[in-house]
Amino acid sequence: MATADFLVIGAGISGAAAAHALAAHGSVLLLEAESLPGHHATGRSAALYTPNFGTPLVCRINAAGRAFFETPPEDFAAAPLLGRRGGLTLAKPGEEARLAEALAAATPRDPIERIEATEAARLAPVIRAELIGAAAYEPGVADMDVATIHQGFLQGLRRRGGRLICKAPVTALARDAGIWTVTAGAETHQAPIVVNAAGAWGDVIGRMAGAAPQSLQPKRRTAIVVAPPAGLVVATMPLVEFVGHSPYLKPDGGRLMASLADETPVPPQDAQPDDLDVAVLVDWLERHTHLAIRTAPRAWAGLRSFVPDLNPVAGFDPERAGFFWLIGQGGFGIMMAPTLARITAELVTTGALAEDLVALGIRAADLTPRGARPAGAD
Ligand SMILES: Cc1cc2nc3c(=O)[nH]c(=O)nc-3n(C[C@H](O)[C@H](O)[C@H](O)COP(=O)(O)OP(=O)(O)OC[C@H]3O[C@@H](n4cnc5c(N)ncnc54)[C@H](O)[C@@H]3O)c2cc1C
Repeated sequence: MATADFLVIGAGISGAAAAHALAAHGSVLLLEAESLPGHHATGRSAALYTPNFGTPLVCRINAAGRAFFETPPEDFAAAPLLGRRGGLTLAKPGEEARLAEALAAATPRDPIERIEATEAARLAPVIRAELIGAAAYEPGVADMDVATIHQGFLQGLRRRGGRLICKAPVTALARDAGIWTVTAGAETHQAPIVVNAAGAWGDVIGRMAGAAPQSLQPKRRTAIVVAPPAGLVVATMPLVEFVGHSPYLKPDGGRLMASLADETPVPPQDAQPDDLDVAVLVDWLERHTHLAIRTAPRAWAGLRSFVPDLNPVAGFDPERAGFFWLIGQGGFGIMMAPTLARITAELVTTGALAEDLVALGIRAADLTPRGARPAGAD
């Protein structure tokens, strides 16, 4: 049996970052069900830092995290964590007025500028130019090196004396005399504080701890990678989407990654791409771009998990002492990870958020668990 000050469940980006932050304050055990961390949502993202995307609270959390990505701690990573990308939102001819929706998301910190349709066509030559009626450009959108960021947290955890145990699926949690006993595989571990960073399985772990569920809903999203049209260099192309809820595409090495932007509610699972979703995406690409997709593309799916207000949950359970929720990162979990990890360490060790976070409008009360225990539940 291993004991620690803090036990974190789930070694995706959220659990890895929180474990790293907590390891500055005590001993940490990080338990992961899979044989390698990053098998689920963290390894399947679009790897984009999109500062104006998400609820106002999500945007504030991301604004607080930009400094970490631009200037990570010494020894965190050998390579830059962010890469220049930019984001292009297009409106079709006849729908130009709808561009206001995209422009309205801008802030003085992260502007979005209107640009000429001809300039948009030059930036994104893969898009059929006749479909571009108006365009907006967001320079602050960046690529994130997710694998390097994830490894940075895990290696930093190790350097701080923390321990990652893989193939350790948690199956039971019990609290006695102020200590949680956690069963994972054939082992048991103990700690006074447990952090639930189990991604799509957050409510499953919550139920094991006897806590009220947070109505967490995993939603499947599909993506593919395709070769660009012959002779077209796409490496410097921005992220491209049409205004409203549309599929999007971005360079991925020398190829193009595209996603249907689907949000299909599913139970927590090892998500697999649905053939029909892939076919719908290929059809959309053939109608909106110069891509001709002749063979089945490499496809994958991942889960973006939301609670009803679309904000993350980061706080102690009101009824299960020592049980900290860190779930509901939705489609923003990579970019929010450094700040949510800081928030976790601050709430766990001091019970309050640092002044710079409060000054940005981030309040612990907005992150606190929102689940209600059913009447009569013990
Ligand atoms: C297609 C797609 C595109 C996306 N694009 C972006 C993007 O551009 N930018 C962005 O910031 N975010 C993006 N996201 C969202 C981002 O990927 C997630 O918010 C983030 O990865 C969530 O991280 P996590 O650590 O909470 O979850 P996960 O990575 O799923 O990690 C949870 C871990 O908990 C483990 N676990 C579960 N149950 C147990 C148990 N019983 N015992 C032990 N371990 C357990 C799992 O095995 C898993 O490894 C995207 C997601 C998808 C699917």
